[in-house]
Parts: sequence; C-alpha cells; structure tokens
Amino acid sequence: AKKTGKNKYLFFDQRMTLAFEEKIKIENILRKAIKEKNFKLLYQPIIEISTGEIACFEALLRLKNINLSPSLFIPVAEETDLILSIGRWVIKQAIKQLKKWEDKGYKNKHIAINLSPKQLYDTKLFSFLQDTFKENDIDPSMLEIEITENVLIENREEAIKILQKLKGLGITIALDDFGTGYSSLNYLTFIPVDKIKLDKSLSDKFLELRNTQVIDSLISLAHSLNLKVVAEGIEDMKQYEKLKRGGCDYIQGYLFSKPLNGELEKIYNKNFFDF
Ligand code: C2E
Ligand code: CA
Ligand code: CA
Ligand code: CA
Repeated sequence: AKKTGKNKYLFFDQRMTLAFEEKIKIENILRKAIKEKNFKLLYQPIIEISTGEIACFEALLRLKNINLSPSLFIPVAEETDLILSIGRWVIKQAIKQLKKWEDKGYKNKHIAINLSPKQLYDTKLFSFLQDTFKENDIDPSMLEIEITENVLIENREEAIKILQKLKGLGITIALDDFGTGYSSLNYLTFIPVDKIKLDKSLSDKFLELRNTQVIDSLISLAHSLNLKVVAEGIEDMKQYEKLKRGGCDYIQGYLFSKPLNGELEKIYNKNFFDF
C-alpha cells in the first residue's frame, strides 16, 4: 500500500511539474513573440442570415511560426499579464486592417476582437482605442468587442460602466461563449451588450434534437431584450437550417468558412447561401 501511495504521489507530482514547465515554456514563447512581433490575425466571416453576406469578421490570434492553439496560450497570457501588450497589438492590428479594407473599397465589413477581462479593466484601454481609431481615421462603430460573462466576476458595477463607455464611443459589444457559464440568464437584463454569441457546445447539444425549443427560446429571449444572436461553430447544413427557422441573426462556422488571412478578394462579394 505504501508503495502504491508513493507511486501515486510521484505521478501526481510529475504531472504538476509538467504543467508548470509547459506554462513557462509558453510564457517564454509569448515574450519572444511580443519582442519579435511574431503574431498574426486570422479573420473568420460572420454571415448575416437574412442576406447571406458577410457582416463581420472575428479576428483570431495566431503565432506566426508556431502551431500553438490560442486556447492554450491565451490563458497563460492572461495569468502573466502579457495579455495587455498582446491585446494592444490585436486592437491596433484590427483597426489597421479595417483601414486597409476601407482603402481597398471593401465597405461595411466590421471586425470583432476578443477582449480578456484584464484588458477591459485596463485603465488605459479607452484612450488607447480612441487614439488608434483617430490615427487610422476609422469609425469606432466598425469595431466589435467580444467579452465573456467572466468580466462580471471581479467588479460588476465597474464592468458595466466600462462597457457603457465603450458603447458610447460607438463600439458594439458581443457576449461570447453564451451558454457555457454558470450565471443565470438574469444578467442579460443588465449587462450592456448588443449581441450574444451562442457557444458551439450549445448548438451541438440542442440542435441535434428534433425539438429545437431550447435554442428557439434563447433566440426569442434575446430578441425580446433587443439583442442580436450569433451562432458560432456551425459545421453542418441541418444546424444552419434550424437556426434560420428559429430566427437567429448571424452565423459563423466551418460550414461557411474557416478563419482566413486578410485578403478579401475572393470572398468580399460572395453570397454564402448560394450553396
Ligand atoms: P472563441 O472566441 O470562442 O473563438 C471561436 C473559436 O472556434 C476559434 O478558435 C475558431 O477558430 C473556432 N471555430 C470557428 N468555427 C468553428 C467550427 O465550425 N468548428 C470548430 N470546431 N471550431 C470553430 P481559435 O481561433 O482556436 O480560438 C480559441 C479561443 O482563443 C477563442 O475562442 C478565444 O477565446 C481565444 N482567442 C483567440 N484570439 C484571441 C485574442 O486575440 N484575444 C483573446 N483575448 N482571446 C483570443
Ligand atoms: Ca470570440
Ligand atoms: Ca465563442
Ligand atoms: Ca470559446
């Protein structure tokens, strides 16, 4: 028994060490990438269901030379505060991309960026956004910010104030990963957002069923609160058809497009429902 106990302990200990070492490794990769500007953004189309046209692109962060998922490196960036400088790079890059598209005549394609709670609470966020919009002569309404309900954990009143200030600038706010958290639906009545993004896991679970009542009801609830609804992670036609029937406003997923580089030549005028 003693031996088993020891082995168990060793095993556990090794795993802890590994996780810690992994984190350090990722932290070092991130520090290097910040110094060498080794990040890039990919853009995934978000399509308006009523028109079949691209309304917006979600900017998704990648490392240039290393194949490492943001679901692995973003949490490390958040823990180490590196998310602040990485996040500023993302904001600047996205707004510059909006400018590039505008100059090329690609009109009315918004960009949505993901914003971590730490970034939202950064006291320099607002002026940084203002300055970057001004530098690039871009209307703030072209930018959307995706947040998760996690921003409410630290200081609900403060989060609401900041979001309202961002909205005052003209930025739209989307509540990301909707349906994955623990809060009640009640917070939809007070968090100042324009849209909710139904998480992939929600669609996967509830659109499988013949009865789509759960998703349909969420969409109706959102609409009754004047919120638009985006469904993300949509991979098959049946899901799309059910969402359309349920009145969903926007759709995003591999069924239509993977995240792309910033070249829009081939897809700018594409109608995504000409299957
Ligand atoms: P997210 O914000 O929920 O982004 C959606 C994720 O789903 C993206 O993964 C996207 O590539 C993926 N996806 C889109 N359509 C489909 C589909 O049809 N099927 C499947 N299986 N996946 C799909 P990605 O790019 O790996 O990003 C993962 C997460 O990392 C994001 O989840 C977001 O939370 C975070 N992230 C990415 N870029 C940034 C960033 O610039 N800043 C911050 N703070 N977080 C970021
Ligand atoms: Ca997102
Ligand atoms: Ca999401
Ligand atoms: Ca997610």
